[in-house]
Formats: sequence, C-alpha cells, structure tokens
Amino acid sequence: MSETNPKLRAELEGIPTYKPGKAAAGDGPVAYKLSSNENPYPPLPGVMETVTAAASSFNRYPDMACTDLVNELAERFGVPAAHVATGTGSVGVAQQLIQATSGPGDEVMYAWRSFEAYPIITQISGATSVKVPLTPGDVHDLDAMADAITERTRLIFVCNPNNPTGTVVRRAELERFLDRVPGDVLVVLDEAYREFIRDPEVPDGAVLYRDRPNVCVLRTFSKAYGLAGLRVGFAIAHEPVAAALRKTAVPFGVSQLAQEAAIASLRAEDELLGRVGSLVCERTRVVDALRAQGWTVPETQANFVWLRLGERTAAFAETCERAGVVVRPFPGEGVRVTVAETEANDIFLKTAEAFF
Ligand code: PMP
Repeated sequence: MSETNPKLRAELEGIPTYKPGKAAAGDGPVAYKLSSNENPYPPLPGVMETVTAAASSFNRYPDMACTDLVNELAERFGVPAAHVATGTGSVGVAQQLIQATSGPGDEVMYAWRSFEAYPIITQISGATSVKVPLTPGDVHDLDAMADAITERTRLIFVCNPNNPTGTVVRRAELERFLDRVPGDVLVVLDEAYREFIRDPEVPDGAVLYRDRPNVCVLRTFSKAYGLAGLRVGFAIAHEPVAAALRKTAVPFGVSQLAQEAAIASLRAEDELLGRVGSLVCERTRVVDALRAQGWTVPETQANFVWLRLGERTAAFAETCERAGVVVRPFPGEGVRVTVAETEANDIFLKTAEAFF
C-alpha cells in the first residue's frame, strides 16, 4: 500500500467544515432544539402522504430539471419558468452561484456577522471573502459595502433578514445600494426567512429582481415550509444567471421526494403560512419578554432572536442546555435562539430571566 496521500487543493487546508447547530441532547431533561432555525411543527399529513407515495419509486432517478416544481414556482411568483432554478437547499444554490461567478483572484462580499456558510463556500471556490462589519446596531452597512466594491468583486450576498441578527434591509436603502453596484456584479438577496417578515418596508426580492438583471433571489423550503431535512431551495433570476445555475447543479441533486414535498407544500401554503403567523406571534412575545427582562434585542424579522452576550456567550448556552433548550452560541459574540413552540420558548425565557 502506498504511503502517499492524494494531492488535495492547498486552499482546503484552512477551510473549517460547516458546523451544524447542536441537536437536542439525548439524555438529561427534554431538550428542545433551538439552534438551527428549523420549523418546530411536524410535516403536514398531506405532505407526508405525498412523500410516502413518492418513496415507492426511489429506485429511479428524480427528474433532474425539477420540471413540475419549477413550473409551480414560476406560477406562484408570476415569473417565467426560465427564471427559476432549484438546488440542494438554498446553501447548495448559493454555492452554485459562487461557482458560476467567482474563482481565485475574485472577491465575494457579505456583511459580517452573517450566515456562517458564506465564508466556507467562498473559500472552497478559491475566491476571497470581503467581510463588511454590521453597524453597531447589527444591521447591514450598505454604504460601507458599496464603498468596498472593487473591480474584483463578483458576487455580493445581502442576507435579508440577516442570520443571526434577524435585522432587515429596507426598500429605499437597498435600492440606493443596488444603484451603486456595477451591473456586472451579481447581488444575491438571500431571503431564507422571507415568510417571517412583517415589516412592509422590506422589499420582496422576487419582485425587485425584475428590473435588475444582476439581482438574484435565494429562497428555501427549509424554514417556513418545514422541509429542512429534504434539502430543496431555489433561486429566481434573469435567464443568464438561472441558466448558469442549471449548469453548475449537482446532477439529480434534488430528490423526487423533495420535489414532490415542495409542490405539496406550495399547494398547502395557506396552512403553512398560518403556522408561520403563530411563530411570528411567538416572536413578538419572546422579544417583548426579553426586553422587559432588560435584554437588548435587535429588531428581528426572522424566526430567531439574537442576544449579544460577548464573553458570557458560552456560559449562557450551557445554562440553556441544562434547562432543556439547545441554542446556537457564536463564541465571544452572542447566542442565536430559534423561536419555536410555546413550551420551548417559555423554558428559554425563564432561563434568560434567571441569567440576566
Ligand atoms: N441562507 C440563510 C440565511 C440561512 O440561515 C440558511 C439556513 N440556516 C440557508 C440559507 C440555507 O438553508 P437551506 O440550505 O436549508 O435552504
């Protein structure tokens, strides 16, 4: 047997593997997982039936083009089917967008802190990350981002609402920013939490992209639609970008189960959005309660809240875990907590009150 290892790309050395939110501990008190911004509700019976029926043919490859799902999405958003591209979760689509635009020597820009996959998928491509700090109020600093554009900038993520802070970018400032971005730079509006937004000033990327060929919207079935485990996300963009996504897709990357569950979920949208409404009510309750306890909580339009704890981050996360709720610590910075079912939120609120 040879002692030599295969030659791997040197860039991979420094890339951390993506760290998922910790799952609920198996022992100890009943633990609720509030660490991955998932939907706490179980799948709808109708969606389960669809998935069960689709399972009878998983000896076959799925429809690689996701034809029915793409058509359903095109109708739902009132856009041409040629503008819709699906992928293996929206993180898969984000990775394809980088692959389609950026390589060594190019720059991918995003606010920081933001979705922790951005630096990883950027580094994998060999491109350079340009991280523009959030303002002290934890919102995107779009002026600083526009100022940071160079001739090497190829792609800019605007995470709206931003993960992990929940803060949003509103219409006027986003449009002002887009007017400053050169037309050959792709702006990706990552709207993974779009359905949780109640602020009317936040623009809908699926409408805004229409007059802007360099804007692409990223959406997912993982959050409001409750299909995180099935891995299906999609982008809406003008034809050249959507076509590039079809070229960079992992062949058969969206299973038939996922495609059919996504279609069934779109058809059950009223019920699913009703659940989102309940979570939004819980969000208001959680934020109000935390503020009444004395915490500073940024205005969140997503299904999570952000607590800046600095050095107390790890201690708070451990205290939560001992109380039965698993939250997401970002060491030295803060904790992101998913808004979930009432019982889980109550345990979290009680723990936060005692810790403050
Ligand atoms: N974008 C943002 C901002 C996210 O928070 C997440 C999930 N944590 C994703 C994209 C990816 O979600 P998925 O791959 O499940 O669609």
